[in-house]
Amino acid sequence: MERILVSACLLGRRVRYDGGAKTSDDDLLARWRAEGRLVPFCPEVEGGLPVPRPPAEIEGGAGGAAVLVGEARILTPDGADVTEAFLSGARQALAAARSSGVRIAILKEGSPSCGSLRIYDGTHRGRTTQGQGVTTALLELNGVRVFGEDRVPDAARYLETLT
Ligand code: SF4
Repeated sequence: MERILVSACLLGRRVRYDGGAKTSDDDLLARWRAEGRLVPFCPEVEGGLPVPRPPAEIEGGAGGAAVLVGEARILTPDGADVTEAFLSGARQALAAARSSGVRIAILKEGSPSCGSLRIYDGTHRGRTTQGQGVTTALLELNGVRVFGEDRVPDAARYLETLT
């Protein structure tokens, strides 16, 4: 059975920066959960960041790939550099994916770790831009396809090509 890595906050875990969850009510996700397919993971918590924590953004909205090669940092609104924790979380997410044989992930859109189409633009003014989070970038570089929680039907179609 193909397993699926999922942002822990989408499954009701209160691991977000604001201490809350973003529980998904998607029926397919619920079915996959009941089938035991889901591997919940929060890269920021596994990377050592607390709950709650300041809402970090990637400098310049540069995207996760730039962070991976040291061309952009991840900063809190006060300018604290949390890049290392994000990178550690991304590496642990990849390790979790590999140990579970995961080839597909459904991650929370917009997050500097988990975003797949959108991230915040680094200004800390609530503005988004096109781009991936750092965990998403690392997973995709290593062959794991990542879909946002608003693209579960696309994920389901991709899943069918794998089985
Ligand atoms: Fe959710 Fe990912 Fe943020 Fe963790 S890092 S709270 S899993 S969006």
